[in-house]
Amino acid sequence: MSESPFPKSPQAVAPKVIAPKVIALVVAAGSGSRMGKDMPKQYLPLGGKTVLRHCLEAFGRHPRISDVRVVINDSLRDLYDNAVAGLSLMPPVAGGQRRQDSVRLGLESLVAEKPDLVLIHDAARPFIDPDTIDRTIETLGRHDGALVAVPVVDTLKRGVDEDGTSFSGATVDRTGLWRAQTPQGFHYQKLLLAHRQAASGPEMTDDAAVAEAAGLKVALVIGYENNFKITAPADLERAERLMSQQMEYRTGNGFDVHRLIPGDGVIICGITIPFHQKLEGHSDADVGMHALTDAILGAIGAGDIGQHFPPSDPQWRGAASWKFLAHAAKLVADRGGRIAHCDITLICEQPKVGPHRAAMSAKLAQILGLSIDRVSVKATTTEKLGFTGRGEGIAAQATVTVALPLSA
Ligand code: MG
Repeated sequence: MSESPFPKSPQAVAPKVIAPKVIALVVAAGSGSRMGKDMPKQYLPLGGKTVLRHCLEAFGRHPRISDVRVVINDSLRDLYDNAVAGLSLMPPVAGGQRRQDSVRLGLESLVAEKPDLVLIHDAARPFIDPDTIDRTIETLGRHDGALVAVPVVDTLKRGVDEDGTSFSGATVDRTGLWRAQTPQGFHYQKLLLAHRQAASGPEMTDDAAVAEAAGLKVALVIGYENNFKITAPADLERAERLMSQQMEYRTGNGFDVHRLIPGDGVIICGITIPFHQKLEGHSDADVGMHALTDAILGAIGAGDIGQHFPPSDPQWRGAASWKFLAHAAKLVADRGGRIAHCDITLICEQPKVGPHRAAMSAKLAQILGLSIDRVSVKATTTEKLGFTGRGEGIAAQATVTVALPLSA
């Protein structure tokens, strides 16, 4: 036994880099009603999901964010639960009277988690992007705090009110002026102490101000215009326009056939139709759901149903097909996308599908979390031609439109 002639050189061993533990704290405790709607802006729908959910997904899928916690208004817990369904988050914490109190309570709730860094983000800024999150975290490698902000480019005027009219008064020098956005990132322990010190003092409008008051140095990180805060109805319209520009639309199709054998009913699109036959298959043989699942997988380029749920795997024997469908829908959501519409055609002579179409649409809409007008189920015969015409089996085809973020 001789030693290797090529001993490992010390340079060949990569230095061990320990990534900081970064928690995103999203502040959604406001009950703001400036929108003129009956619910706060973070729970309003935008591009098929709530404003809050856009923020949570952006942080949740960022590789450098370890965990996400939301500070909520406890009286709106139902709205929160609906908005975050299916997301993997830390349990929410209740906020306080003022924004500053909400952030402090959020920070206190993280003591046991011992994060290295914390990023505070407004729930009403749904366009936060991964690059800005990266630059905020990188800046914290060199400074106590990092504040995302945009330089002021417009000429600033101080208004002077006279007889009910505002007149242009002094021109304010804009040199060195920035508009603060979020996220605002900090070393966790330092910000926690700063917030504790500031708790009984006068209100401060952002966390950078709290940090500065404690003597921390907060570096400016260049933000971008689209990371604006939704505060008025016009902002929501702007957000909707922007959202549609940032999505691409993809279409997928699926096709499936199952053989009819003696039995006591068929299951199609989750609805059992009494019949003197049943569909043969490894799972529950729901031909409609299988075609739909394949169409969704096709739209996102994620293979086919057989790859995700191999028929050779005994755990799928007799399985309810809604599990396959829900899995495909989750893959779309994981990519930050949404299903815009699906359209299914069932092809058979018998049983009669027409009386069950509405129930089928409702069932699929429920599984996919869509409104019923986005799920179409149709049926046709093949005029007694071919295997469907002879009643040997039932076929289904499906088409799905999926909206995906261009960045995904
Ligand atoms: Mg099948």
